[in-house]
Amino acid sequence: MVDRTSREIDRRHVFYPWAAQARIEPVVVTGGAGARFTDDTGASYLDFASQLVHANLGLQHPRLVAAIHRQADRLCTVSPNHATDVKAEAARLIATHAPGELDTVFFTTGGAEAVENAIRLARLHSGRHKILAAYRSYHGATAGAVTATGEPRRWASEPGIPGVVHFFGPYLYRSAFHATTEAEERDRALEHLEQVICFEGPDQVAAILLEPVVGTNGVLVPPDGYLAGVRELCDRYGILLVADEVMVGFGRVGEWFAVDAWNVVPDLLTFAKGVNSGYVPLGGVVLSPAIAASFADHAYPGGLTYSGHPLACAVAAESVRVFEDDDIPARARRLGETVVAPALAKIAAAHPSVGEVRGRGLFWAIELVADRDSRRMLVPYNASGPAAEPMSRVLAACKRRGVWPFTHFNRLQLAPPLIIDEADLAEGLAAVDEALAVADEYVTG
Ligand code: PLP
Repeated sequence: MVDRTSREIDRRHVFYPWAAQARIEPVVVTGGAGARFTDDTGASYLDFASQLVHANLGLQHPRLVAAIHRQADRLCTVSPNHATDVKAEAARLIATHAPGELDTVFFTTGGAEAVENAIRLARLHSGRHKILAAYRSYHGATAGAVTATGEPRRWASEPGIPGVVHFFGPYLYRSAFHATTEAEERDRALEHLEQVICFEGPDQVAAILLEPVVGTNGVLVPPDGYLAGVRELCDRYGILLVADEVMVGFGRVGEWFAVDAWNVVPDLLTFAKGVNSGYVPLGGVVLSPAIAASFADHAYPGGLTYSGHPLACAVAAESVRVFEDDDIPARARRLGETVVAPALAKIAAAHPSVGEVRGRGLFWAIELVADRDSRRMLVPYNASGPAAEPMSRVLAACKRRGVWPFTHFNRLQLAPPLIIDEADLAEGLAAVDEALAVADEYVTG
């Protein structure tokens, strides 16, 4: 047999998501532990992206690996119609930490399916069909979730499902409302949302779907009072609030769930990623008692073969226990406040290419600009190919220094595992600081 490397075989046989197949060169990851992973060339990286913002407990966490082994020895798979001890325990633990009265879990195998089912639940429970979702959002790549998505990844799947309408959320740095303060941005964003509700017909709107802290599209932390204002609008017009916590749930922003930072309780909450750090694919929707009651005597018309998969649930239950034992959300909040925020403030002061830094917990964005005064983005919105080169060079400079962040449009986004130790965090931030010299070369203003 010809001895071909994994790299060659991969390029011959594997089709990658969101990619022009001939233009990508994925690294071949050969191992990892905690906040570091290695590739087949022997290079080692500090994982400042938690893979795809999902490995919240890092790689090869011994307790998670052991939980998979234990469950694999007992029972690897069952019908989703059967109950198991691990499914019950995972649901109980998730419900314990879910906001307010939310206490019933419908399991899926990932985030998009969670959003898909949240849309279905909201429509069936309310008897209404419209879904309001934000621009600058990502909700997944299945039909409904991608239609709700408020960025270019939606475009190729249009027209998508009927009944989805987009609105602008708060984003003071690039305010859609010409606001100059957080309070103004909050009030105007809420006024805008109420107008959208009124123009769409309040009694047509089943749900407002939003990321409580916008993830991929910019780590947009809402002004205080915004989420409470959305909750109030929902209550006033009989609309359900769906919090998409797929990226920001399970400690990412220093709380069990992002809505907890503002004490807002949604009617439905979607999760995935951090629930078990993706060791076995899992997602789900947590339902309010009222919505769950809608399906007490009427069958819920939806399901998945792998719903409540025993391996995934076993590792989710253990993951929640690790979160509890090690107080992971508080740890993320503390590291964000004491290590990341001060380091990024220094970085912002030192680099003319940094327009704004923002974030919470262990989730931060560095927004890069070519001109601070006009706030012109370092690369245009949705840039690709040569137009995106400045960002590709910044990313390459980070990787050369052994740090793996993620980029989206003109932003470097930092989302290290929540178990990262302080020295590694500081080392990664210092490498990012150095790498930003590349972005500074493009500053014209
Ligand atoms: N919702 C949000 C907020 C996300 O960030 C993502 C993925 O990044 C999804 C949904 C989709 O999750 P998945 O890729 O597991 O389908």
